[in-house]
Amino acid sequence: MKRILTGDRPTGPLHLGHFVGSLRNRVRLQNDFDTFIIVADVQALTTHWESPELLKTHVQEVALDNIAAGLDPEKVSIFVQSMVPQIAELTVFFGLYTTVSRLRHNPTIKTEAKQYGYTDMTYGFLGYPVSQAADILFCRAELVPVGEDQLPHVEVTRFVARRFNELYGQVFPEPQAKISDVSRLIGLDGNAKMSKSLGNAIYLKDDPSEIRKKVMSAVTDPARIHKTDPGHPNICTIFAYHKAFNAAEVPEIEECCTKGTTGCVACKKNLMAKLEETLAPIRERRAEFDKPGRVEEILRAGTGRAVAAGTETMEMVREAMQTDYWKER
Ligand code: ATP
Ligand code: MG
Repeated sequence: MKRILTGDRPTGPLHLGHFVGSLRNRVRLQNDFDTFIIVADVQALTTHWESPELLKTHVQEVALDNIAAGLDPEKVSIFVQSMVPQIAELTVFFGLYTTVSRLRHNPTIKTEAKQYGYTDMTYGFLGYPVSQAADILFCRAELVPVGEDQLPHVEVTRFVARRFNELYGQVFPEPQAKISDVSRLIGLDGNAKMSKSLGNAIYLKDDPSEIRKKVMSAVTDPARIHKTDPGHPNICTIFAYHKAFNAAEVPEIEECCTKGTTGCVACKKNLMAKLEETLAPIRERRAEFDKPGRVEEILRAGTGRAVAAGTETMEMVREAMQTDYWKER
């Protein structure tokens, strides 16, 4: 079976953007691929190095979010990045031939550096796409289901794999990104992508009253003051969410908004009902797995499988790079 690698930074709970951008695809593909889900705690520290205490709660929470969304822990391996030493080893080797200018030109790095207000960048932050190449290649994954912001990083991974194979011999596949039909869900503020670090998200674990508060205060078309004013759905956050969670009614909603025959409040109520259809089963599954020790047990088992895959890859890498000094010949 071919392998999938994808995952999330444990910087906070997962949200609707994760669901439509990546989780939905993970769940759909779990029967056809040997799936590895990384809880990328080292990558989280590339922006949160001063607050490692954040990780303890969020590592388990992010794993539980993945399971609640429909991943079967018996089938997929959910693991913790820092517990797989082969990823750190590969990061060092991949950094040998990846130039600084390649990393500096990465548009996602530029956007995030601005978002975090960095005037200078740490070596770890600038280089996290190299570490991410190691996250993907340690298990020789071929498919990477991700949101749009990750495309430049998957390009780095493809370069890293291709160049390694040219330099030392064929070890790695050149993985493909798998983008969903909603590859960038806008945040509640209507400005940036929905993101756990920006406070503009509806979380998978939010209860209905929380969701109601968030949806009701979401930005719609600012030019639409009266219910009968013609609206501009293309600049409306709520319309973007209808596209992601209520595709069947999109043509009708678009028409009613443009003609000013349905008001924003009714439109928001309709959306909440549709979100509930997605989120109620996730809530139920969360309750089923949210038992003391259960998530830790799942993470331990998944990490064990990841280390086994990494050990196998490192044997191939050492042989290719001629660093298998003690091996009997
Ligand atoms: P952070 O702000 O801490 O970076 P994040 O919300 O960007 O958090 P990540 O853990 O970085 O989440 O991303 C995990 C995966 O979810 C990636 O594949 C990413 O592309 C995808 N993703 C995140 N936000 C969105 C979004 N708003 N729309 C579509 N996909 C998204
Ligand atoms: Mg991110």
